[in-house]
Amino acid sequence: MAAPVGVVQNPAMDLNGTPAFPDSSASLESPVSVLKGVGVERLQMLERLGIRSVRDLLFHAPRRFEDRRRVARIRELELGETVTVRGRVLTLGVTRYRSGKSVFQLVVDDGTSRLHCRWWNLPFLERMYSVGDDLLVCGRVKALKPRTMDHPETEKIVSGEEETLHVNRWVPVYPSTEGLTQRILRALTWQAVGAFAHLVVEPHPELPLSKMQVRPAVELGGDQLTLESRSLPERSRAIQRLHFPEEPWQADLARQRLALDEFVDLQLVIQRRRRRLEANAKALPCSGDNRWMRQFLPRVGFPLTGAQQRVLSEIRSDLGGSVPMRRLLQGDVGSGKTFVAVAASIMVLESGFSVAVMAPTEILAEQLHANFRRWLAPLGIEVSLHTGSRKSTQETGVAKRQRVVVGTHALIEDGFQIQDLGLVVIDEQHRFGVVQRERLLRKGSYPHLLVMTATPIPRTLGLTLYGDLDVSLLDELPGGRRRIKTYLRTREALPKVWAFVRRELEQSRQGYVVYPRIEAGEADDVRAVTGEFERIQEEMRPFRVGLLHGQLPAEHKETVMNEFRAGVLDLLVATTVVEVGVDVPNATVMVIEDAEQFGLAQLHQLRGRIGRGAYASHCILISSRGNPEADSRLRVLERTSDGFEIAEADLVLRGPGDLVGRQQSGVPDFRFGNLRRDRALVEMARDLVRNGLDSGLVSTSP
Ligand code: ADP
Ligand code: MG
Repeated sequence: MAAPVGVVQNPAMDLNGTPAFPDSSASLESPVSVLKGVGVERLQMLERLGIRSVRDLLFHAPRRFEDRRRVARIRELELGETVTVRGRVLTLGVTRYRSGKSVFQLVVDDGTSRLHCRWWNLPFLERMYSVGDDLLVCGRVKALKPRTMDHPETEKIVSGEEETLHVNRWVPVYPSTEGLTQRILRALTWQAVGAFAHLVVEPHPELPLSKMQVRPAVELGGDQLTLESRSLPERSRAIQRLHFPEEPWQADLARQRLALDEFVDLQLVIQRRRRRLEANAKALPCSGDNRWMRQFLPRVGFPLTGAQQRVLSEIRSDLGGSVPMRRLLQGDVGSGKTFVAVAASIMVLESGFSVAVMAPTEILAEQLHANFRRWLAPLGIEVSLHTGSRKSTQETGVAKRQRVVVGTHALIEDGFQIQDLGLVVIDEQHRFGVVQRERLLRKGSYPHLLVMTATPIPRTLGLTLYGDLDVSLLDELPGGRRRIKTYLRTREALPKVWAFVRRELEQSRQGYVVYPRIEAGEADDVRAVTGEFERIQEEMRPFRVGLLHGQLPAEHKETVMNEFRAGVLDLLVATTVVEVGVDVPNATVMVIEDAEQFGLAQLHQLRGRIGRGAYASHCILISSRGNPEADSRLRVLERTSDGFEIAEADLVLRGPGDLVGRQQSGVPDFRFGNLRRDRALVEMARDLVRNGLDSGLVSTSP
């Protein structure tokens, strides 16, 4: 790439030179009002953008850059290109139509030709321009006769002296707010960078962060282009380049430096927590003596899968080790995680300790409770249930030794106590935050921890969410399990789909129909359970149809689930409350309407409710929008049942918030880091921190 012509760096940005700012007491935490040109009014506008201190302003990243190295001649404009031109305002005015609509038009002339700029229904713009204004106009050329741009961005050139900042370079374009023009924001940032960037210090001088090599990316005509690798800049340099790069790739390199800092901060928290655990905690001896295991295994009635055997021996060695177990058990629905948790519990119980098992919902807790009881009751082990509506230990407040308590988050409330807690099992962890996990662990003295999740977590996210856990994988489905066939259909095909469902029910199978909502909204035609329930009941007569959603009272839900489990109900019309853990092997068909409303990982979870018995099972996704992009996303599910592949696709397409649910996901909000793109940086941060801790350069206390 040729060197840009006429790029002038901010003289005060020479980081080795003297800062141009007068007041030596000013710091990054100074209010933005220390900058020239920030009065009460602008202070308020900046506040609306979340900018209060100079630091806030420096970390307010541009959303894109505009190439103003070259200003095009109006006469040479080509249809469809996005360019910047500069000219004088020749005429301007608003035309109002009888319909109430209006168009504000402005004509600029640059000496080669004229350009018509139009803004629809923004008549007040007229007040903001005057004939004779020297104007930069950036936009897409909509027509050539006459040359026209609709809704371009404009900027008035006020004084020749600022031209080094606003033209002849790549200029930053910021997220802004009404009244605060790009020009003002840019000038303030320029001032702040010049006077304050040198105050931005290396957060972890003991780590070689600015020696790391990464590959910067640039956007080119809608494509991401990755360039050859470069060293990351120092943090202060990164702040400068973030706003005023000579080339856009420098801004990306700067973003990556700031992202790496964020990932390092997170890794420090995660890895320090783990190291302190290793240094301080004495693990309870929980690997068991086989006295119950010997009775249990022969009675199971099936051979363990290879994966189950492997994972159980990993767990046994953890339970007998010197550091408390911190293990994540990942496996698709039906891969036998619950069974593994039961077997692990037996080891702990044999060792004389109790077990607490936490599930995210009452339905799941009840199901888990039933499962644990089925396996453990024959051994004479007490398994009790502790949920919001059913408190196992209400009277005494203290659970007896050597027992298993299964429950919901009610387990972490102060009222619940358990003696000799040896193992905490958390099912479907991503619904609980790390804080909740820690609270349950504190009911004992460094008990072992087993976290189970059916959501395959892509590596990048795993490193951020579960960085302090060892990972075990159940990558083998128990024998005889049939693959679920998945089809994508439109609403037009629904009559055929219902006929298909009927045929399954006629063969004494059961099924689910899932909707994204409980109630229909007004703004769109996304379907909801309450609206569709009666229609489906009618459609499926004489089969018995049940309704299940999160707003029903707990006992009601329980009744419906029990009836479905017992085969009293043939079909369940439900929301995603059936998403996790519900285990009815006779269910072989699932219809999901408005499927594009869900994430892929969630759909994969949902369809895991079928195919749990020996019968062939079918999942039919109904897409309603006819949106090719959404449909091609859904086709990933037709193609593969590999949960990890699906999770990766979801992460790339929708981002981490959707994948694990925003509020409780425990995924921090990164300002610069982007889990979709920054896998290499996440791994780099993990390794840097690990090496730092190993070598003692980084201390284990914050
Ligand atoms: P997950 O918790 O991963 O969804 P579960 O442990 O609930 O899976 O197992 C699903 C079903 O498969 C249960 O009915 C369980 O009894 C059964 N199962 C578990 N392990 C095996 C195995 N090795 N062989 C056959 N069936 C198994
Ligand atoms: Mg399960």
